[in-house]
Amino acid sequence: MRIKRLKNKDNRLKFYCNNFGFRKPFQVLIDGTFCFEALKSKLNIRDQIPKYFDTDVKLLTTPCIINETEKLGPSLYGAMLIAKQFAIHYCGHEKSPITGSECFLSMVGENNANRYIVATQDKGLQKSLRKIVATPLLYLCHKAPTLEAPSDVTKAAAEKVMMSRFAVNDTQRETIKELKIKTFGPEKEKFKKRKKKQPNPLSCLKSKKFKGEEHVVQHTIEKPKNKKKRVRVKISKHVKEELKKMKTDGSQI
Ligand SMILES: [Zn+2]
Repeated sequence: MRIKRLKNKDNRLKFYCNNFGFRKPFQVLIDGTFCFEALKSKLNIRDQIPKYFDTDVKLLTTPCIINETEKLGPSLYGAMLIAKQFAIHYCGHEKSPITGSECFLSMVGENNANRYIVATQDKGLQKSLRKIVATPLLYLCHKAPTLEAPSDVTKAAAEKVMMSRFAVNDTQRETIKELKIKTFGPEKEKFKKRKKKQPNPLSCLKSKKFKGEEHVVQHTIEKPKNKKKRVRVKISKHVKEELKKMKTDGSQI
């Protein structure tokens, strides 16, 4: 089970690195709810999170998170002490702090340009962050850190990134064409172009009308009837003379 969990984490991290340029050391933004859950689960964030990612990570929190845990009183006192252990990432709300979830959403922005991994147990914040492209979520599940699978929005964006990498622009298409000609020679015409046949002139004739009735000209061509061929028989001269004699003899009789 543990091996499968770590394998999933490796694949998901690779996905974020390959498609959205996440780099080591990863920056993990931690809120009060994550600190609270870690305390309950007796998980030492500073030890266990770098161990889980198998690399150095920057564990960060914001003045808004510290302010929020302080305000929530004794119930979150332990979580506040844990949060104060991490480096404070200035968020721009120092003068007028906002809620932890609002603060994280403003830091992530439209597309998580600074490539944060957000560690939170807040379901509402998780739901909002899933709608933002390239925002990995880290939470504790059965006392174990878990990097959530990329959301549908993030997967769709990654697909677009992949497609754009393989897309060929016009100049690339031209160079490919030139290289093809250099290596294989000019392209030969595979098939001869067929000449356009002229339509049968008879089929172009307009139909004629007789006394209101439509009369369509028939386009069949009648074949000439077979004529009997003359057979000439050559008769030699002496036979002709004999025949003449016989005729004259016959007339005399
Ligand atoms: Zn803030």
